Amino acid sequence: EAKARQQQLVIYQQAMSERFNRRFELTKRLQEALLNERLHLYFQPQFAVSGAFTGTEVLARWNDAHFGDVSPAEFIPLAEERGLICQITETIFTQLLATMQVWQRQGLLGQQTYAVNISIRDLERPDFAQQLVEKIQTAGFTPTQFELEITETALMKDPQHAFVTLRELQECGFTIAIDDFGIGHSSLSYIKQMHAQRLKIDMSFTQEMLSNPADYGIVKTIIAMADIFAMKTLAEGVETEQQAEELKRLGCDYVQGYLLAKPMPAEDYQAFLHRQQR
Ligand code: C2E
Ligand code: CA
Ligand code: CA
Ligand code: CA
Repeated sequence: EAKARQQQLVIYQQAMSERFNRRFELTKRLQEALLNERLHLYFQPQFAVSGAFTGTEVLARWNDAHFGDVSPAEFIPLAEERGLICQITETIFTQLLATMQVWQRQGLLGQQTYAVNISIRDLERPDFAQQLVEKIQTAGFTPTQFELEITETALMKDPQHAFVTLRELQECGFTIAIDDFGIGHSSLSYIKQMHAQRLKIDMSFTQEMLSNPADYGIVKTIIAMADIFAMKTLAEGVETEQQAEELKRLGCDYVQGYLLAKPMPAEDYQAFLHRQQR
């Protein structure tokens, strides 16, 4: 028995050290990728429940020569932990603005907003709003063309401080959206103070709403609550017609998900923009 336990320990230690090595190696390679602007942007259109194309979420992609495609679900938390996340936000905006300039010249940019995911670390930087506004204006755009998404969970770590920055960003003209809403346990009094125009209903609720009465209740409640606070709602992860229909019936404002459009690389998204013009 002692021998079996010893063996288990060895296996455990090996697994731990492999995990450690992967994270160490990934961090190093992510740093290099950031220096060389080797992250890619994916674009996922958002729609009003009426079907009108209203905005686009920008999602980071990373293909590493050694590790292949690394999911943002893995490298974003890693970047948060290793102090690289503000650089990611910065790179995403640099690349997005350059790409938007090209589409602008081609007459492809309409009235839609571009939604970028930001981190709580960005909000903690005292000069974040000012630098971002400058960067956007230098590129020939205005903050009103952009939406900033921040997760409810991240906000709740230091709400009072975050709310001040959100308010400042809103005053600059940005639209603020609370991402993954519903899983972050914010209280009603916090929601009132959030200075956000949009709540993005977490995908887990959208996907279970027709099979789980509790999830249906949560979706219904978030939509009703948003109305009270004069906020708009967007349901993420909409995959079926039935979900879209029910969301519309409940008074949800916007939808995003595989049913309508998957996240796509710039070339495909550009073709999508062309089709929108006809
Ligand atoms: P998120 O912001 O909640 O993004 C939504 C995720 O759901 C994306 O995964 C998207 O590809 C996926 N998705 C969209 N529609 C559907 C659907 O109908 N069904 C299903 N099953 N999934 C759908 P992705 O791109 O892997 O991103 C994962 C998370 O990584 C994001 O969650 C976001 O928190 C983070 N992330 C991605 N890009 C960035 C970035 O540029 N900056 C920051 N800070 N975080 C990012
Ligand atoms: Ca998001
Ligand atoms: Ca989300
Ligand atoms: Ca509504």
